Amino acid sequence: MRLILLGPPGAGKGTLADRLTDRLSVPHLASGDILRAQIRQGSDLGPAVQKYMNSGQLVPDDLIVQVMISRLTQPDCAAGFILDGFPRTLPQAQALNGRLAEVQAPIDMVIYLDAGEQVIISRLAGRRVCPLCDATYHLQTMPPAESGKCDRDGADLQARPDDQPQVIRTRLQEYRRLTEPLLEYYAAAGRFVRLDGNKDIEWVYCQAQQVLTKTFSSTDEP
Ligand code: ADP
Ligand code: ADP
Repeated sequence: MRLILLGPPGAGKGTLADRLTDRLSVPHLASGDILRAQIRQGSDLGPAVQKYMNSGQLVPDDLIVQVMISRLTQPDCAAGFILDGFPRTLPQAQALNGRLAEVQAPIDMVIYLDAGEQVIISRLAGRRVCPLCDATYHLQTMPPAESGKCDRDGADLQARPDDQPQVIRTRLQEYRRLTEPLLEYYAAAGRFVRLDGNKDIEWVYCQAQQVLTKTFSSTDEP
């Protein structure tokens, strides 16, 4: 199963992908997490990438395409993957398409999680992440068992530097300008479903499962 999750920042792509990854037995590839890992590991790309991320701008297409395509060619992606946060521009989508066509492994499904601006803002304002394992929580909707601590490893949870109001504004502008055109691109390609990301996590997860089961009921997948 090769699945893409599209949607604005804060729509719940990562949260849904975290749940689907076990069910579908394919890895969750979050481009933001992969870039943050490069920064943490002190890679050469780190400082340049950090500058874009902290200001809410997208990193250059060439850079992210190289990073993500090299990730997609790892053995754990042989049976598929869930892409979260990539592609985010038309050139990225075209590069991904080209690569997948080469290996005759096209995208099976695109799920677009739509959410309104007020919902996005309150999701991002309350988002807390684990600096060690990238687990994501929310102060109100998805709190950890012990306040401020990651359920998995007990690390102190943090707000992301790009989840500040001024940076959120830039990210939403970038989303509308560069990522929204992908909706039409993938809708035209078929197997494209919109889900209401304003709803609670259980609802979104159940709907996504239903869509995947319905679409693939005539095959062995998912
Ligand atoms: P969100 O959870 O809000 O959707 P991400 O963690 O996916 O945010 O991305 C954080 C930042 O990482 C983006 O604002 C951007 O700077 C960079 N980034 C992630 N994915 C991409 C991409 N596909 N293209 C360009 N920049 C990206
Ligand atoms: P994205 O990956 O699209 O940027 P996340 O999955 O990180 O979004 O979710 C953003 C924030 O909203 C997180 O704090 C998460 O815990 C919370 N969240 C995600 N989905 C929902 C939902 N359906 N209802 C309420 N809160 C949610």
